[in-house]
Amino acid sequence: MALNVTLRMFRYRPDQSARYDMFKVTVPDAANVLDAIEQAWAQHDRALMFRHACHHASCGTCAVRVNGREVLPCIVPVKKYLDGDKPLTIEPLKNFSLVGDLVVDVANFFQKQAASGLVITRPTENKLEGKPIAYDQGLDPASVETVPFNRFENCIECGICLSACPTMAASVKFFGPASLAALERELDKTTDPQRRARLLELADDEQGVWRCHSAWECTETCPQNVRPAEAIMALRRRIFAQRFGFGK
Ligand code: SF4
Repeated sequence: MALNVTLRMFRYRPDQSARYDMFKVTVPDAANVLDAIEQAWAQHDRALMFRHACHHASCGTCAVRVNGREVLPCIVPVKKYLDGDKPLTIEPLKNFSLVGDLVVDVANFFQKQAASGLVITRPTENKLEGKPIAYDQGLDPASVETVPFNRFENCIECGICLSACPTMAASVKFFGPASLAALERELDKTTDPQRRARLLELADDEQGVWRCHSAWECTETCPQNVRPAEAIMALRRRIFAQRFGFGK
């Protein structure tokens, strides 16, 4: 079975006024929103700007807003949004500079990570307690050798939490949910007292955890269950503990 869907697509170029274009596309019943965007590009307008890479929520590149909500369109079914003849409104992430159509400039995101002294990936990481990968894949663990492997970050740097964050909308200097979540994770892992003190100092910065208005939109929208809001609360508890000499 095929689905007929209308996309109401945000269009923008630096030298033109922003507008919305309507594209009618036909996609398979099981299609995700990214498939529909690709159909609009293939069938209607090869100048449509959008980003994508992995198609399975691994790279975070394709993040957009669908009907006002931040999602990874590569994993969200078109059917979820079908409501009679109503179109799906596809827009770029908020709180980033626009490049064109659905593409935003993500440099600010990575600059925040770098400014915090945080690494995005690292050459080695703790093993997952020797657990065979087979457990996660529904295979018989006994049939698969338990091998050490690197665990990389849950965060895929999609920028969804920055787009959904009302504090980011008010202050672009705010470190933002992803950086603060990474900072909390670094504190969990680091035993070096000087490094820990520096990380807590960063969290306590005027653009750090105290700017957060506790809207919890970051945790609500994060597709990777990083739970940045919980990390921000944990950082606040750490700062209090350090300041008043209790806890860890
Ligand atoms: S914390 Fe979640 S929403 Fe934010 S950048 Fe990482 S994966 Fe995306």
